[in-house]
Amino acid sequence: MNSLLLTGGRVIDPANNFDAVADVLILNGKISAVGKNLSAKAPKDITRFDVSGKIVCPGLIDLHVHFREPGQTAKENIATGIAAAARGGFTSVVCMPNTSPAIDNAGTVALIHERAAEEGTVNVFVTGAITKNISGEELAPIGSLKKAGVVAITDDGHCIQNNELMRRACEYAKMFGLPIFDHCQDYSLVTDGVMHEGYWSTALGLRGWPAAGEEMIVARNILLAELTGAKIHCQHLSAAGSVALLREAKKRGVSVSGEACPHHFVLTDAAVAGSEKFWAADGKVISNFNSQISNLPEWPAYDTNFKMNPPLRTARDREAILAGLADGTIEILCSDHAPHCDYEKEVEFDYAPFGITGLETELALALMQLVHPKRISLADMIAKFTINPARLLNLAKGTLSAGADADVTVFDPEQEWIYNREDSASKSKNSPFSGWKLKGRAVATIVAGKKIWSEQNEAVAV
Ligand SMILES: [Zn+2]
Repeated sequence: MNSLLLTGGRVIDPANNFDAVADVLILNGKISAVGKNLSAKAPKDITRFDVSGKIVCPGLIDLHVHFREPGQTAKENIATGIAAAARGGFTSVVCMPNTSPAIDNAGTVALIHERAAEEGTVNVFVTGAITKNISGEELAPIGSLKKAGVVAITDDGHCIQNNELMRRACEYAKMFGLPIFDHCQDYSLVTDGVMHEGYWSTALGLRGWPAAGEEMIVARNILLAELTGAKIHCQHLSAAGSVALLREAKKRGVSVSGEACPHHFVLTDAAVAGSEKFWAADGKVISNFNSQISNLPEWPAYDTNFKMNPPLRTARDREAILAGLADGTIEILCSDHAPHCDYEKEVEFDYAPFGITGLETELALALMQLVHPKRISLADMIAKFTINPARLLNLAKGTLSAGADADVTVFDPEQEWIYNREDSASKSKNSPFSGWKLKGRAVATIVAGKKIWSEQNEAVAV
């Protein structure tokens, strides 16, 4: 049971600096060996899986997803969230605590662990809230959240405005060995902005969310990380200034880190003005997209699938995020998978909720913007999806070392396919990338030695 021999793939395991055509032998849910011709070592009756021509890497980890359970299961639940993750090639996900009720107590953490265990496929890790009910006013019981098994604390979706309270949170987090994740948003600067404050917000008559609203809190976090020694991880970075601040702080050895989501390094605020404006203004430079698509995807102005928080920014910001990913300033890739029902998104731009789904498209978009144009190597991209998030969260994951859990992703970086949101495994369809021709796709997702999803078998096996 849970034994498998993967043969002939190009195995890339950045944690061990391994990159070669090799077999991967999995015995009883653990990695037994990675090397040439492992057939002789494998039990005779082992299931073989020919992955020639494919990439084999440690199971991908998405450390920023919203599965909406408990409380908002019309948008998503743990079962459907897991199904979307498996299809995207993800073997582990980290759930944000802004559920209803919020994950601010040990009981809710246990509930999510239980629900995930019932599904028994993708590993589901949980973050706890920093403040009670994510209200930014009073600290949650961080010690008991840690005991219940949270891997980090965050008020994601919200941002603690009181710097003194954030300082105390940092001190507790450090004491309990937990990283703090922060959704960086200064409320006084952002107020009720719905898109990036700039040319397009003016042209479209929408209220602006200035880049400084993010940069201000990134700077605050750097100062508090220095003051307290806590590990602060800045979520879904969108602005050039944030990358510059982080780069400078990391040079000085400050314990801060950052993540980027594909929509922020593929799209720009011009997309809110509609597809025609986007392709004419900022879409031209997107490699692989224009050259390969005869009919460019179309969408109208004010399409709420282009509304997220933080918002899409300018081409200059997009370039800075890409540069930050290339030079290692931003060491983690994730989706911020944020499902919403059609009826919630099908309203005026001002009233729609922020957020888009992302688990099924992020691997392809990362390959297309980072690897195919040679901004970073395949190994570097894989590290940002595996060992880097594992290290930040102290998870014994993200590597194919002998003895490690046999979480493995097999993908084809060259496969071309068209993403159709109606085919998504997620309960929600709020993706801006529907109809896009993508390049690169997961072929199989293996958790603890069990193939939980594969291209041939489109259903998630339990
Ligand atoms: Zn957020």
